[in-house]
Amino acid sequence: MTKTILPGATIGIIGGGQLGQMMSFSAKEMGYKVIILDPTPDCPAAQVSDNQIVAEYNDLAQLIELAKRCDVLTYEFENVDAETINEVKKYTEVPQGTKALTITQDRVFEKNFIEKSGFSAVPHVVIDNIFEYHRAVEKLGAPVIVKTTRGGYDGKGQILVEDPENVCYADIEELLMHGTCIVEKKIALKKEVSIVVSANSSRQTSIFPVIENVHRHNILHLSSCPALISTETENKIYQIGEKLAQNLELVGTMCIEFFISTTDEVFVNEIAPRPHNSGHLTIESCNISQFDAHIRGVCNLAMPKIKLLQPAVMVNLLGQHLQPAKEALSKHVEWHFHDYGKAESKNNRKMGHITILSDDLRETKNAIEKNSIWDV
Ligand code: ADP
Ligand code: MG
Repeated sequence: MTKTILPGATIGIIGGGQLGQMMSFSAKEMGYKVIILDPTPDCPAAQVSDNQIVAEYNDLAQLIELAKRCDVLTYEFENVDAETINEVKKYTEVPQGTKALTITQDRVFEKNFIEKSGFSAVPHVVIDNIFEYHRAVEKLGAPVIVKTTRGGYDGKGQILVEDPENVCYADIEELLMHGTCIVEKKIALKKEVSIVVSANSSRQTSIFPVIENVHRHNILHLSSCPALISTETENKIYQIGEKLAQNLELVGTMCIEFFISTTDEVFVNEIAPRPHNSGHLTIESCNISQFDAHIRGVCNLAMPKIKLLQPAVMVNLLGQHLQPAKEALSKHVEWHFHDYGKAESKNNRKMGHITILSDDLRETKNAIEKNSIWDV
């Protein structure tokens, strides 16, 4: 499909969280109209869009209603049912198709796809019961991480097993109740990095500079760009990004997360077929953001070469950080402050982020680490 959607047309977005909100900012700036489908009235994306359909993500009748009212349909998260997309495709353009969705919403499909493309996924074993779990631990050797194959995010649906002699089997059984799981070798990490790649239906791509990520309790805490990695590793990551985008028939924005081991091996951790938290710093630091690139991609506009205008650090504001950060805002002229406008603040829930443009990444990161806002 190579239909070009011009400003003035209407974009429908399934999902109204912060990713939908930032997609909508980009779309509105360019003159598109935006309709959001989300069950929460006045959700973050609806606050900055033209209209909202208040409905669950699997409400087929309402999804068809959205499709009829828009010229092109996209989504902010990967857990949209592929069959549903095939159904709504009859009523509007869905240039992203379902290939990337289907592969990335299942960790087993995703790892098979990574390996078939010629790259290293983290060593893992697929398990369906506790006996297979034991065999997997024997094969891989501790420490391992048990993960559900579907629906996990921010470390949810994962159990770290440091010592197999000392593990709560009930917890593992509980994960297995959700269906097939994987047991993954825990990698001794030197660094985590990610790359954002965007494409349009005419197969033009934009590839963003490599971003370095720090997680806390399995939740992204801080990202910085450019990543401080060797040129060899950087080139390898670009090559993987381009190849996976091509093999996924990418349209719109995706992000690939990588592990770099202490022995400098590069593993593809996971792929998100949508803009990603680690790419938020592209809003201020690049010539176009990952959200602009997503809108350009799904509307089939030309994809520019990405330039990093200034190095940047992004730090997340979780529920426990938002209020102290607001109170400190007037003292920090360097903060690009983003509050997503979520009605309910919860511990560890992503409520906003701050981006700081900086020519001294180390100093900027140190200042964040010293700031008591992020102690909890
Ligand atoms: P999610 O879908 O929750 O993002 P991930 O698999 O990316 O799931 O795990 C979240 C974080 O947990 C990773 O970014 C990393 O910090 C840590 N982690 C997960 N799997 C491994 C692993 N096999 N080895 C080392 N760290 C891991
Ligand atoms: Mg992840």
